[in-house]
Amino acid sequence: MEMEKARREERMERHGLLIVHTGDGKGKTTAAMGLAVRAWGDGLRVLILQFIKGGWQTGERHAIEVLARAEGRIELRPLGLGFTRKGEKPKEEHKRAAKAALKMAANELQSGRWDMVILDEVNYAVRFGLITEEELGALLERRPPEVHLVCTGRAACPLLLERADLITEMRSLRHPFAAGIKAQKGIEF
Ligand code: ATP
Ligand code: MG
Repeated sequence: MEMEKARREERMERHGLLIVHTGDGKGKTTAAMGLAVRAWGDGLRVLILQFIKGGWQTGERHAIEVLARAEGRIELRPLGLGFTRKGEKPKEEHKRAAKAALKMAANELQSGRWDMVILDEVNYAVRFGLITEEELGALLERRPPEVHLVCTGRAACPLLLERADLITEMRSLRHPFAAGIKAQKGIEF
């Protein structure tokens, strides 16, 4: 009871941050997962919605399922249908999936169930035209002030950058793909 009260008071005082991980270097999603684990370890309730990644198994998904089973308060939902190729017109089903994911994000933000919400790869969804900058903007407008919101993906849109409290740009100095080294388990997925 006391603990619940203390937690409620802590929430009232909290200044929810709008955090952006962008840029062309590796580490945007990884850093978001690091934040999720830290926040969860501090007792926060964390929701991760993945916009592009679909149902395939990833290390982070498995790890979060284990945490969820142990104590709850954390959830990862893969809601995407995979990457669409650059220059390719986005498919209607990809658009539908992204719009549904954004709607879910808005509902979950409002629900009072989460202290941190991570929208992984949401920037791609805007970039590829699956959702509009305005639609993302509307979600930012309605964000409850005590909830931390993290948005990842290359090429964050100007509106998001304008609103963000914390922006980190990952800059690529070298990447193994350039040397023909294929994606390594535990590093890439
Ligand atoms: P991670 O999920 O490993 O943190 P990320 O979220 O920063 O990476 P994304 O832009 O979401 O990276 O890209 C997804 C994939 O592209 C990842 O497998 C990542 O390793 C790869 N990638 C990231 N940066 C580069 C780069 N500079 N050159 C080639 N591939 C890259
Ligand atoms: Mg990523």
